[in-house]
Amino acid sequence: MSDELKCSIAAVLLDGTMTAKTIRKEIKSGVEKFKAQYGHVPHLAAVLIGANPASETYVAMKKRACDWVGMDSSIYRLNSSATQAEAEDLVAKLNGDKLVSGILVQHPLPKQLHEPAVLDCVSVHKDIDGISRMSLGGLINGELGFPSCTPAGIIELLDRYGIAIEGKTAVVVGRSIILGKPVAMMLLNRNATVTICHSRTPNLTEVTQTADILVAAVGRAELITGDMIKPGAVVIDAGYNRVAGRQGDVGDVAFESASRTSSYITPVPGGVGPMTIAMLLRNTLKAAEMAALAT
Ligand code: NAP
Repeated sequence: MSDELKCSIAAVLLDGTMTAKTIRKEIKSGVEKFKAQYGHVPHLAAVLIGANPASETYVAMKKRACDWVGMDSSIYRLNSSATQAEAEDLVAKLNGDKLVSGILVQHPLPKQLHEPAVLDCVSVHKDIDGISRMSLGGLINGELGFPSCTPAGIIELLDRYGIAIEGKTAVVVGRSIILGKPVAMMLLNRNATVTICHSRTPNLTEVTQTADILVAAVGRAELITGDMIKPGAVVIDAGYNRVAGRQGDVGDVAFESASRTSSYITPVPGGVGPMTIAMLLRNTLKAAEMAALAT
């Protein structure tokens, strides 16, 4: 972000990079304590099926993050023609491996695989990505399971900035299973009054203008503009979009106009993105602690 733009914005920036760094330091010290108590460190096992360059990049980032906090990590690979049975067997093997604290199945999976079925094979005690149907169900009844990472990162960011959720009107634009729906459920669990919008929502602006907390989880560059935002609203932009002719990632929110109307806003990049990996590490440490207590 240019210095000129920084000076012209009215809203407070919700700095995900800085917040995630603080959380990583907390996790690093949690890992040291864990090691002192149990003699080993938490271990994140990533399952990578096929040759998807974006997945390779994400898994490498997660590995570096594990290294940074002192956790072990490993990558289990299957080739792009892997069968459903091979994928499920690998996950079952990792479920049974006492040295593995958390399992991350990097998605999307190759087309021949039934992705939800593979994700569902991950034990709820090791589903540190929080995206199996069991974990998502846990979000509804408040039992079992880890929260899925990007939605949990959004809630954590609000908490770390002392932004109250209870009693607020929240609008989530987007209803995907990995982002829109779980973040809406988490906001509801924290006693916000929640509306979910999607591609068939008529008069989107009328709804977004009611939001005290507006979460954009759409995947459409700059869909949400300043005029769609209630003055003083908190705006969370989860979007990462590539736009021809522009450098870097572009959010779902038109930052310049939105930052003049909102009270708090996440930048892209440096807002929601860094929080996701921080939550993955936190879930892995928790999984290791819970496993250690159970033995
Ligand atoms: P997705 O599965 O494509 O879902 C997009 C949602 O947006 C759908 O529910 C869709 O509605 C809705 N939508 C599309 N066009 C719309 C419009 N014009 N008005 C209102 N709603 C509209 O995307 P996703 O996986 O949730 O990801 C959303 C964005 O978040 C992407 O930019 C992605 O890169 C980013 N993301 C970031 C992180 C991170 O920060 N770590 C993690 C995950 C995703 P329908 O359901 O009606 O089709």
